[in-house]
This record gives sequence, structure tokens and C-alpha cells, in this order.
Amino acid sequence: MSLQAQAKPAAKKVYDVIVIKDRCKECGLCISLCPPKVLDTEKTYNKFGYRPTYLKGKDGCIGCKICEFACPEFAIFVREASSNG
Ligand code: SF4
Ligand code: SF4
Repeated sequence: MSLQAQAKPAAKKVYDVIVIKDRCKECGLCISLCPPKVLDTEKTYNKFGYRPTYLKGKDGCIGCKICEFACPEFAIFVREASSNG
């Protein structure tokens, strides 16, 4: 095996952000704390009349989980999705 083959760069990690829509109270904490600003508010309402958070730029999520730790409603979770390398 050549050294070149061994020196393959690490695969970029991709993350899924799962929002349990009916738990979200639209407080905006996750959106304001997200470092790369990849979270936003949906245009539609959940059954309690709040517009839940959604991930608008999947490639931009760095998997820091600040949103998950900050959410007072336990409405948002971050999971490693897959690698594309
Ligand atoms: S894990 Fe971090 S980067 Fe990804 S959506 Fe949550 S706060 Fe933003
Ligand atoms: S912190 Fe939780 S409740 Fe607040 S907007 Fe984000 S997901 Fe919704």
C-alpha cells in the first residue's frame, strides 16, 4: 500500500438536528446561541401555536450541541448522521 493511499484526509462529519416540533415554544434560544447560525424558525405552527426551529443549512452544523444543551423544553437533539468522504 502506498503512503498516498494511507494519507487520505479524515471524512467530514455531518449532523442531523432533530426537533420535536410540538415541544418547541419558539423561545429562540437555540437560534441565538448556534455559533454558525444554521437554525431558523419555521413558517408553520405546531399544534400549540408556536413556530418550531429547523436546521436551514445542514452542512453548516458543527455538532457542538449547544442547541441541545440550551433548550429548556428538550425539543432539539443533535446526532452524527454520516460521513461523506
Ligand atoms: S449542534 Fe451547534 S452548530 Fe449544530 S445546530 Fe446545534 S448549536 Fe448549531
Ligand atoms: S431552545 Fe428549544 S424551545 Fe426554544 S426555540 Fe429552540 S427548540 Fe424551540
